[in-house]
Amino acid sequence: MFCSGRSDVSSRELSRQLAFTRRDFLRSAAGVALGSALLSSGLAARTGIPAKKRKVVVITFGGGARDQETFAPEGQENIPHMMRELIPQASFFTQVVNRGILGHYVATASLATGVYETFNNFAAVPPQHPTAFEYFRKDLKRPSTDAWVVAPSNGFNRIGESNYRSYGPGLGARVILPKHLLAAANNGGGADYEHLLRDNYETPYFTPELGGGEFELQQLEMLLKLSVDDFKKHALTLSSPDELSVYIARQLMHQLAPSLLWITMHDIDIAHAGTYSLYVEGIRRTDRLCGELWKSIQSEPEYAGNTNVFILPDFGRDADEDSGGNGFQHHRTGDALSRTTWMLAMGPGVREGLVFDQALQSTDLVPTIGSILGFSAAYAQGKPIAELV
Ligand SMILES: [Zn+2]
Repeated sequence: MFCSGRSDVSSRELSRQLAFTRRDFLRSAAGVALGSALLSSGLAARTGIPAKKRKVVVITFGGGARDQETFAPEGQENIPHMMRELIPQASFFTQVVNRGILGHYVATASLATGVYETFNNFAAVPPQHPTAFEYFRKDLKRPSTDAWVVAPSNGFNRIGESNYRSYGPGLGARVILPKHLLAAANNGGGADYEHLLRDNYETPYFTPELGGGEFELQQLEMLLKLSVDDFKKHALTLSSPDELSVYIARQLMHQLAPSLLWITMHDIDIAHAGTYSLYVEGIRRTDRLCGELWKSIQSEPEYAGNTNVFILPDFGRDADEDSGGNGFQHHRTGDALSRTTWMLAMGPGVREGLVFDQALQSTDLVPTIGSILGFSAAYAQGKPIAELV
């Protein structure tokens, strides 16, 4: 008991140190100021945007990246859009600790429910607690077109709605799996598209059963006004699965303008294959795509001026010095580096150019979104982030 207590204290201390270092990197490079714990004045009240018009876009900076390839001085060249365009307009939280299971599906589902989910990461199962999408749609009586997930991996097909009693089927988000759509458009393959169809970097042979609220190929034309031929033609111009996801997310914003949109990036996770240059290329691409999405949001009339954007990783990656891991390649040790992530919040009511270093948890996201959109995340473990609500 004594030992586990001590290691808990030391990992908390490590997380704190990591956050302080990250804060100092940003203060010197992005010119942001240290935020103080101001009294909350109510984001919704401050902005004066009617509840019905408010929108939230969540982007998971997927796969997990370490500070030495991102916020540290030697990594900043990999994230120019975040450093120069996004962070100066954001409130940046340097210490978002994930205390859950470090597998991508279960961790992303935990971000979406506000509860550390405990199901098997490699099973085609729904989250066990209500998702933000269910709270949003049920509390606010929103239609199914108003909440969407664009997910990178076919293993995420059940993320849109839980199996929680009184929530669940029919009340969650529609899920688009762009790779699955592309494979279907090509009858299962096609050498021209191989680079867009890579999936599940951790266990390449995992092929989940699809089902749930999944978006089918036939709906492409009906809902997104995109013919299968145009979709295939455009896909040929794209370089990665995340670019394909962003393309689909833009179509969604333009055609359906959902109020709650969740985009999960995953290119960085190619790190599992062990090639450092591909991992860094993934970070650079994710940075660029985050910048592009923010620009798209500013140029879509339904979104401009009334959308809060959250960018955060599901978790980090192992430290070089941890003998149980293999540096950037995996996230299997559960060390402080792989658990201590960050979050960037932007949009109306968010104080710009500030960095906050108090400890938050991954489970605080859903209650925070609830405060902005006006739903109550009744079963979430986290709590709204005071600086944002
Ligand atoms: Zn991974």
